[in-house]
Amino acid sequence: MKKHNFSAGPCILPQEVMQKAAEAVVELDNSGLSLIEISHRSPAFIDIMERATSLALELLGLQDKGYKAMFLQGGASLQFIATAYNLLENKAGYCNTGTWSTKAIKEAKLLGDVVEVSSSKETNFNYIPKGYDIPKGLDYLHITTNNTIFGTQYKALPETDAVLVSDSSSDIFSRELDFSKFGILYAGAQKNMGPAGTTLVVVKEDVLGKVSHQIPSMLDYKIHADKESMFNTPPVFPVYTSMLNLEWLKNKGGVAAIEKENDAKAALMYGEIDRNPLFDGFAATEDRSTMNATFTLNTPELKDHFEAMAKEAGLNGINGHRSVGGYRASMYNALPIESVQVLVDVMKTLEQKA
Ligand SMILES: *Cc1c(COP(=O)(O)O)cnc(C)c1O
Repeated sequence: MKKHNFSAGPCILPQEVMQKAAEAVVELDNSGLSLIEISHRSPAFIDIMERATSLALELLGLQDKGYKAMFLQGGASLQFIATAYNLLENKAGYCNTGTWSTKAIKEAKLLGDVVEVSSSKETNFNYIPKGYDIPKGLDYLHITTNNTIFGTQYKALPETDAVLVSDSSSDIFSRELDFSKFGILYAGAQKNMGPAGTTLVVVKEDVLGKVSHQIPSMLDYKIHADKESMFNTPPVFPVYTSMLNLEWLKNKGGVAAIEKENDAKAALMYGEIDRNPLFDGFAATEDRSTMNATFTLNTPELKDHFEAMAKEAGLNGINGHRSVGGYRASMYNALPIESVQVLVDVMKTLEQKA
């Protein structure tokens, strides 16, 4: 039986996407060859890369706006240092909203002057800071639009005249935002786009080329952009599968349509967390993530019982990250609302039996 997969990443993908990806591993489009044995310079793969990058821009509403989309490697974690290499000349600002922001700050500090313009560390990152001052003259301001571990999400972007950079690994393609406000947007594939192994980097081309230091080739966005993500051998399977998933999303009606579904799932989930006296939400209500709902069970005696019931109902991946504890329901694009309903029903049954 297929499980209800709430895993935070790698995570659920549409069943039809996994089916098509599996078929392409055996044989790509009646070519007599597998996706993973053809040259990345073959017309077939060049076409796949082209479709993947143009779909990414189209779904973000960034076509013909001076942006380039690239499928790179090294995960979001490599982009922590890559963004700094490409943009940091004098001083960069970082909003510290969780584990991933903290890691991004650590990497950028290796290269230059970094100011933490805001932080919610003192309350274990349970909210998104607002109303702080952003110093003038920053090379860029870095945010994490969705904090996968703590379950918080920016609902409004900070107002800044600096280049806005975002790690959007866990909410890319999940909701509409004015993406033209970003100079660089990056996302590891395995949260909402595809299998692990590729990272989408979307760059406004005019933000590049402004630093005086040398950039190692593999970290240089200009090189990757000029080579159409083919400076070195791209991760063909994750790129292909991401392309299938972006096609799936486009056929569903794109980001606006999936946002409605994601809002409905989040409303169902948080509705139960707030209603059920046994559970408490972790994140500040106004900053709650539509992707990752974090919550705790306030009656520790029921822990084993709840977890056994969840297992019995086929729920997978609801344990919270160790830095928050409790539970985390990740509700990425491909998770059907029926799965959320199963989790909610388990929570209700637990309350009735308690
Ligand atoms: C998972 C995650 C990362 C790390 O991604 P890798 O691809 O494993 O490097 C970074 N940022 C956010 C917001 C994440 O959710």
